[in-house]
Amino acid sequence: MTLITTDINLASEMLKNEDVIGMPTETVYGLAGNIYSEKAIKKIYEIKKRPFINPLIVHIKSLECLNKVAINVSESALKLANTFWPGPLTLILDKHSSIPDLITAGKNTVAVRIPNHPVALALLEIVNFPLAAPSANPFGCISPTSAKHVAEYFNDEISIVLEGGNCQKGIESTIIGFRNKQPILYRHGSISVQEIEAVVGKLEILTKNDSAPEAPGMLSKHYAPITETFLTNDVIEFIKKSPHKKIGLLLFKQEIDNQKIIHQEVLSKSGDLKEAASNLYAALHRLDKLNLDIIIAEQFPDIGLGKTINDRLERATKR
Ligand code: AMP
Ligand code: MG
Repeated sequence: MTLITTDINLASEMLKNEDVIGMPTETVYGLAGNIYSEKAIKKIYEIKKRPFINPLIVHIKSLECLNKVAINVSESALKLANTFWPGPLTLILDKHSSIPDLITAGKNTVAVRIPNHPVALALLEIVNFPLAAPSANPFGCISPTSAKHVAEYFNDEISIVLEGGNCQKGIESTIIGFRNKQPILYRHGSISVQEIEAVVGKLEILTKNDSAPEAPGMLSKHYAPITETFLTNDVIEFIKKSPHKKIGLLLFKQEIDNQKIIHQEVLSKSGDLKEAASNLYAALHRLDKLNLDIIIAEQFPDIGLGKTINDRLERATKR
């Protein structure tokens, strides 16, 4: 049985003993381990069933620690770090020679961020080493946004999850890399493209491609419920095409008037895309537990965090 606890000293002891724990961040809950412990990092990959080609994000406690994990940090990278850290921005930088290959999947770059969650920051301060913390879900499944989600996924495999409430952002970090010092978007995330462009100018967007060598692990199918899920811009029409199914809906602002629908999740009644993003995974978790035949998700407006939500829904519905 996994214990959900606020005992941060117990958590730090376990990390110092090379174990793996569940940790809250503002994006999603992570499976945390000491980046320098081969035992802990191997356990993370093993219990997530994550392929070793899929590198991990290194979480540090402050900007002063950046030069212990990365080198050759460019001016625009620093500008982004100064603007968004602590926060849901991951930077891909040249790695420091001390970073184990297991963390970077053998690449000469490392993914780094400072999380903006008081519990994660307090833990990083106590342990005094960087933490790898990929999302605390089995590979390909819906990301966890509460301690309970983590305990349900890894009941036999981790002893504790640090309680940090529901994740405020509720969706993964935005990942930015660099090519000839020009910033490139590797993954849509919790900070919108417009917000990044306001700081460093026009972003190149890496196209979705399973084999893109610069962004390993950006698989087209991911974040998926077990229930068959569809994405459409005409939910009413899609319901008509599925007459004998038990249906659940994932909607942006408004419920649909239809008695046959088993359950409807509305992500933001006021039409706020940030609120919708923060509710997305919890809503998918709830829908996935209802024994439905299908989940129908509504396409979101393709602006701001709507792009991130659509990206995750496309991956959730890919077959
Ligand atoms: P997460 O599973 O949310 O912790 O995100 C980890 C993702 O960050 C990986 O799947 C990669 O897409 C990306 N990533 C991590 N390290 C690197 C790296 N060195 N180069 C490119 N992408 C990376
Ligand atoms: Mg993940």
